[in-house]
Amino acid sequence: MFADLHLHTHFSDGTFSPEEIVARAERAGFSALALTDHDTVEGCERMAAACATAKIEFITGAELTAEHADNELHLLAYFVDPHNSKLLTELARFQLVRQNRIREIVARLNAINIPLVANDVFALANCRAPGRPHVARAMVQAELCGSLDEAFERYLKKNRPAFVPKAKMSALEAIELIHQAGGLAVMAHPGLNRTDEVIPALVAAGLDGIECFHTKHSTKTSERYLMIADQHHLLVTGGSDCHGKSKGKPLIGTIKLPYTHIEKLKQKVAERKLSTTNGHE
Ligand code: AMP
Ligand code: ZN
Ligand code: FE
Ligand code: FE
Repeated sequence: MFADLHLHTHFSDGTFSPEEIVARAERAGFSALALTDHDTVEGCERMAAACATAKIEFITGAELTAEHADNELHLLAYFVDPHNSKLLTELARFQLVRQNRIREIVARLNAINIPLVANDVFALANCRAPGRPHVARAMVQAELCGSLDEAFERYLKKNRPAFVPKAKMSALEAIELIHQAGGLAVMAHPGLNRTDEVIPALVAAGLDGIECFHTKHSTKTSERYLMIADQHHLLVTGGSDCHGKSKGKPLIGTIKLPYTHIEKLKQKVAERKLSTTNGHE
């Protein structure tokens, strides 16, 4: 039995619907899935329904963009209550940040005579948490550049003319937000962010786990983070970070996290619930 705990749908910057992801996961033989769209839990209801039909266990989730000591890092939230009002308020705030950022990116493109229209990006994104991949797709669609990669390389990535930094949640506050919503906080793809020095501070703030297995982690990188997880008594997670067809390959199926890790995650959620109801927290 195995799981994929890092998936994106068209509720953020993936191209698949929740139903399409589940159909693919079913064909690949997955027992459990988590949806981790950027800054939203909107897709979870449909994904849960599709998983129930396919007899796949579903874990509610989201991926939050956060920062600590000027380092950007992504935090995966698992088992959060999708109706938790504080969580929903904060997510709505960061969705607004994303929408305003799209307008700013488009304004910068317009300033260098690239006639992209913000409403075309919003129409294509058709979600509350739009991001740079949507800008890139809209540019390709409008024939303003040849490929998604070209859009990032020439305009959208850091130190390029249309790069706009994103206001981020403090990582320590994000961990607290996830916990008060009943969830576990997991550091996503540490091998990509290269911010290992922040791990002790996150652990002190209650970080629950670390994503050791990720499509872009080499075997050596995974082993390194397994060791770090062990040192700090952190849970281990893994996922493909599937974005549908937006990154060429669908990726789902590339990471098969052994189900024992899901059992450990559920055990921690249950323990935390018990200590909260007993008034120990
Ligand atoms: P954003 O949340 O708006 O900052 O966009 C981040 C998303 O853009 C993530 O899903 C990244 O994987 C994707 N991304 C970042 N750099 C590139 C790139 N060079 N080509 C394609 N996608 C990228
Ligand atoms: Zn993404
Ligand atoms: Fe990420
Ligand atoms: Fe992701």
